[in-house]
Amino acid sequence: MAIKHKCVVCGKEFYDGQGYVISRSGMHLEFHSSRCLAKFFTRVLFESSDVSCINETIKKLTKEYEEIQSKKAKKIE
Ligand SMILES: [Zn+2]
Repeated sequence: MAIKHKCVVCGKEFYDGQGYVISRSGMHLEFHSSRCLAKFFTRVLFESSDVSCINETIKKLTKEYEEIQSKKAKKIE
């Protein structure tokens, strides 16, 4: 039988291979769609009292995506 997951935001059930299942350091989160995932993590960012520990990660990731974007732009030219 396929593993069933349940979206923590809307409660919708989904099977393994669909949706998003994030498991890290004893924390387990399941989202049926990117919309629910975005909704949840937007709240995490706004409602966390201390985001200093993820600040560096966010900076690193935005820089990484910027580089990917500039590489893509060069290819088009
Ligand atoms: Zn959902």
